[in-house]
Amino acid sequence: MGEHIRIIEVGPRDGLQNEPAQVPFEDRLRFIRDLVASGIRELEIGSFVRPDRVPRMADTDKIYDSMRTGGLDIGDAKAWSLVPNRSGLDRAVAAGAKNVALFTAATDSFARANIGMSIEHSIKEFDGILQQLRRSGSDFRVRGYVAVCFGCPFEGKVRPEQVLRVIEGLLKIGLDEISICDTIGVATPGQVDQLVVPALKLLGKTSLANHFHDTRGTALANALRAVELGVRALDSSAGGLGGCPFAPEAGGNLATEDLVYMLEGMGFETGIRLDRLCEAGLRISRKLKKRQLSKYLQAHHSECQTTRR
Ligand code: MG
Repeated sequence: MGEHIRIIEVGPRDGLQNEPAQVPFEDRLRFIRDLVASGIRELEIGSFVRPDRVPRMADTDKIYDSMRTGGLDIGDAKAWSLVPNRSGLDRAVAAGAKNVALFTAATDSFARANIGMSIEHSIKEFDGILQQLRRSGSDFRVRGYVAVCFGCPFEGKVRPEQVLRVIEGLLKIGLDEISICDTIGVATPGQVDQLVVPALKLLGKTSLANHFHDTRGTALANALRAVELGVRALDSSAGGLGGCPFAPEAGGNLATEDLVYMLEGMGFETGIRLDRLCEAGLRISRKLKKRQLSKYLQAHHSECQTTRR
């Protein structure tokens, strides 16, 4: 069997949050169920943000309720949730969340615009969150997103040294994993080299993930480069869900099915069944009335139509 690559499915959070249509609660549950049935072992199911600010993610608490009461069975899959600050943390802990994702950025402008804090302030906030989690005595896993690592809508090009400084700050407080994000989808593979090589030296293979967006069609090329350099964890979204708020017409997250197809074709092992994953992607795309499907999903969909004729 080939070497394993962890795929962290972010469709139910990063995907749905950035789609124009609101998905009813039952369809969110169905999407999660479908993804787990395809073999997804880690997925981000929601976020504990203010529902008045991010209405798409309201009721994340209720998803955890459903898991507790048996309405949603994800087996031994790992459910992640985004927690923006300490009040979000209180809700996450009350809901029973064990795998928590925190969010900061490589530029102060982007951090301020998104979480209302400077980078330094956000790292202090995370430190408080980690201490609170450790005091609770439960076993938590905490990952940190660093947004706009290659380019920022406010500050333009981002230098690798800027990102590495943020990573060093996060390492000091002891996160389990850091995900380097190309939030606005501007990176090209050469830039991946410049950042991922030193980031791997700092973090090692087990603590570094990459998160690419396909805004300019480079997500899969960047993922390939990251894997060649030794990255063994990638975030992606079924159906490529999740547009870019700074380029509303553009593509969204790296599509999980495109990624799985490429990796399995190269001999890596993901544990994900592509046919089932396509079912998940097509069903949620229909709910969203989304016509722009990921490349693999387009091919799968038109093949299904042809054989049915
Ligand atoms: Mg994303």
